Amino acid sequence: MNWPTIRKDDPTSAAANLTKTVRAQFGWDEARKLLDGLPGGGLNIAHEAIDRHVAAGDGDQIAIRWFSKDGERRDIPYSKLAAEAARFANVLSEHGLKPGARVFALLGRVPELYAAALGTLKAGMTFTPLFAAFGPEPIRSRMEIGEGNVLVTTDALYRKKVASWRNELGSLKLVLTLGDGAVAENCVALRPAMDAAAHTFDTVKTTPDDMALIHFTSGTTGKPKGAVHVHGAVVAHAATGRFALDLKPGDIYWCTADPGWVTGTSYGIIAPLVNRVTMIVNEAEFDLERWCTILQDEGVQVWYTAPTAIRMLMRAGKAAAKNYDFTKLRFLASVGEPLNPEAVLWGQDVFGRPFHDNWWQTETGGIMIANTAEMDIHPGSMGKPLPGVEAGIVHEQDGDVRECKPGEIGELALRPGWPSMMRAYLNEQARYDKCFVGGWYLSGDLAMQDKQGYFWFVGRADDLIKSSGHLIGPCEVESALIEHDAIAEAAVIGIPDETAGDVGKAYVALDPGFEPSETLERQIRGLARKRLGAAVAPREIVFRKQLPKTRSGKIMRRLLKARELGLPEGDISTLEADET
Ligand code: ATP
Ligand code: MG
Repeated sequence: MNWPTIRKDDPTSAAANLTKTVRAQFGWDEARKLLDGLPGGGLNIAHEAIDRHVAAGDGDQIAIRWFSKDGERRDIPYSKLAAEAARFANVLSEHGLKPGARVFALLGRVPELYAAALGTLKAGMTFTPLFAAFGPEPIRSRMEIGEGNVLVTTDALYRKKVASWRNELGSLKLVLTLGDGAVAENCVALRPAMDAAAHTFDTVKTTPDDMALIHFTSGTTGKPKGAVHVHGAVVAHAATGRFALDLKPGDIYWCTADPGWVTGTSYGIIAPLVNRVTMIVNEAEFDLERWCTILQDEGVQVWYTAPTAIRMLMRAGKAAAKNYDFTKLRFLASVGEPLNPEAVLWGQDVFGRPFHDNWWQTETGGIMIANTAEMDIHPGSMGKPLPGVEAGIVHEQDGDVRECKPGEIGELALRPGWPSMMRAYLNEQARYDKCFVGGWYLSGDLAMQDKQGYFWFVGRADDLIKSSGHLIGPCEVESALIEHDAIAEAAVIGIPDETAGDVGKAYVALDPGFEPSETLERQIRGLARKRLGAAVAPREIVFRKQLPKTRSGKIMRRLLKARELGLPEGDISTLEADET
């Protein structure tokens, strides 16, 4: 099926021309000049995200509109957020911590999390967010790899997940806890400490190359890696927020990602604040009614979410979402997994706007390839490289890198040099070095670029299926399967076959109201063969209640494969609820 192109403005329009000019003239040095910087050439993310706006007289603007789990609504203006961040920075330094110390956060989406992130950066220390839902072992191993000096958490999380091993982690000097007041021995109650601390703090004069953040990858393909990012990344956060998410000062913006992974920090804290928007923070997890109510009642203008969430909305049905008024929504974006063409058009139908897919990784620190506001959308494509980003499709063999022709599948690669590029994998120099070959950063993802310059995701290099001489990207097969009315989600893996090398096996989760049956299976296989041809269509279809996913919502094909082949499951520290 050929999906219709979603046309934006006339290509000769002012917006399109402006973009052409911006693309032609854009340079990272120029982008840096749009930020304040610190005296003497310094740069600090927290200064650009909050203090700069307060100094410019925008302190009263709401920075965070927070909804607690029980529906409390609290507005935090920029001036208050700046004071809270300063208080947190003071608490750290009062406990003897110095610039360079490593602060980990294990908190839900509560206001103190944002103060902790910004306060840590302000104090010249390194911030690492962790998912509050992680179990004790993933928390401990990440803090060990990251040599964490401080942990900010809640009393309850501490007791349940940290207390048992806390004394074994030599680097850990301070535990700050928030919550029920039952502060454990050797912990400091965060709220009283912050309330007693001064509300101003001289930002540490970090340089653009100083370490600011450590983010662990999602662990979709193996053991999570700790990617190191620097303060200079803020230049990319500022610019990509404008280009890829269409953020404008004063916008009401909602990023649904948890700060436990990179999207929730780069685009759930830094980019929106640097661009002086009002951001919605919802402490609760996904709930159709609540999400639609927030979008409607808060007049959200820009919404950044992920395919898993979009598929959950789709699963709940159009009718449910159609009772709401979404006229304020101006721009919808998605990241993290392939966004199926059907989902792009579903957005158009239900919200009156298509979803704009974009691509990046923990390692890239910021969005690299995107469907921007003025671009025509070809549903299923990730869009084009942003200004300042040079992307290519390459083949690498023994250190030689060859660029592919349009239409040819190869590895998605980027020319190093953008400001938010990772600077290291913690303690894994060899793994880091392997990413840079022949003047390119190799992403480990396979993609294709068409003649018009649009990029199309094919699959992760590890997930590619080689069947009877064909290279099959799981993404294409999964998109075709999802077109079936009964299918909510699909994952396709290759399993060994004596004659074909590999054959495709599909795992599908059904929409409510559908039950697995042989007839349904035959029907799905028929559709797949019709859409994809016998060589590419999966040989086998199996039904699952849900598919194994990481906490950041990514389908773990490697786990399906390991289980299928009876191999060890490998690192499953990021696995979310799993029912096979
Ligand atoms: P790990 O590196 O530990 O295996 P991960 O790669 O899933 O985990 P992240 O950095 O969170 O960790 O995710 C980046 C990856 O997500 C990309 O390399 C790509 O495979 C996938 N991805 C991100 N955006 C898109 C998109 N728009 N379309 C398709 N895939 C995407
Ligand atoms: Mg990865």
